[in-house]
Amino acid sequence: PSTKRPKRITVLGATGSIGESTLDLVGRDPEAYEVVALTGCKNGTRLAELAIRHRAKLAVVADPESYGDLTAALAGTGIEAAAGQKALLDAASRPADWIMAAIVGAAGLKPTLHAVRQGTATALANKECLVSAGRIFMAEVARHGTTLLPVDSEHSAALQAMTGTEPERIERVCLTASGGPFRTWSLEQMAAAGPEQALKHPNWSMGAKVTIDSATLMNKGLELLEAHHLFALAPEKLDVLVHPQSIVHCLVQMSDGAVLAQLSCPDMRTPIAYSLAWPERMHVPNERLDLAQIGSLTFEAPDLERFPALRLAKEALAAGGSAGTVLNAANEVAVAAFLEKRLGFLAIAGLVESTLAACPDLICLGPQTADDVLEIDEETRRRARGWLPRFA
Ligand code: NAD
Ligand code: MG
Repeated sequence: PSTKRPKRITVLGATGSIGESTLDLVGRDPEAYEVVALTGCKNGTRLAELAIRHRAKLAVVADPESYGDLTAALAGTGIEAAAGQKALLDAASRPADWIMAAIVGAAGLKPTLHAVRQGTATALANKECLVSAGRIFMAEVARHGTTLLPVDSEHSAALQAMTGTEPERIERVCLTASGGPFRTWSLEQMAAAGPEQALKHPNWSMGAKVTIDSATLMNKGLELLEAHHLFALAPEKLDVLVHPQSIVHCLVQMSDGAVLAQLSCPDMRTPIAYSLAWPERMHVPNERLDLAQIGSLTFEAPDLERFPALRLAKEALAAGGSAGTVLNAANEVAVAAFLEKRLGFLAIAGLVESTLAACPDLICLGPQTADDVLEIDEETRRRARGWLPRFA
């Protein structure tokens, strides 16, 4: 029996794909954890189920309209319930040893920053907050001495491969991409693709937004910006390789020519577990890698003609300033419109490209605070929404 006191944990975005996988791990060893707070957005009933199962102290829905469902489902349990933005920030600020930041999109920025400022070890799934506000976010991490643990599989892999090597001895970090469901499709075929096709990811089961980003390859572009901020790597040290089997998650090339990679079956519970147990490791009863059965691992260069979103993200990385904020906000608007069938698949990158081209006044801004970033984010969304009809 362990003599350790339970680890106090909070999960932001508990009702999502990453949140549920995190709680799957936690639920396998309930004595080891004390769940401080769980948050969701609209699904109050599901959040209440999770809060009850994991004996959470607090459950918060971001959407005030879901408060009724949450309180109804929590009646008599003694679990505290709350709703709205302020309550979300309160949940993120409650004393905890570890927090999973798994809200999707720039909406996760402020809650995650609240946890960072408390010094709570932060497992970061929400890549959009680094893409949008990486400089400010990393400055807060440094100021508060907070442990930041990447959850994105490629970045978890990079951390695992880099550990033990001096940063200046790292020459190159190559993120792998599955290529998504349209890896072999022509532009004509992609032009006709709707959410049904784009949501069919070949290897990973994930939330809708990141699945669409994987189909456009914007996801890999966002991950380049994420890696740039997380590991303080110059853009020219970052690279992308398409690897359809999603077994090798990242390749790190050292100054002596050695390349270290991390391999595992595509299951987010492996990188989540790495962040949860860090600096130790824990047991995860998921599928083990059987390379004899898989037989071959293949790699190819990404096609920037068919996947212009990756090119746009590379350009935003090179441009610096607020290009990441504008790229991310325009992409969030475009993906939401695509999921609502108000935009074609190729128009996702089209809208992002036009927005970047039309917003030099925003891109040149040097925001000083998260609120400044969110203002640029909001103004970009307002403009991009206005341009939507042109792409419909
Ligand atoms: P998801 O859509 O399944 O879940 C998102 C969670 O955020 C839900 O709990 C939802 O209720 C909550 N949420 C949504 N909008 C909100 C808002 N405005 N305010 C507060 N809460 C809100 O998404 P996911 O797939 O779990 O992804 C979460 C994050 O992790 C994303 O940034 C994604 O890019 C990243 N990520 C996911 C995976 C994966 O396998 N799912 C892999 C790598 C990275
Ligand atoms: Mg990833």
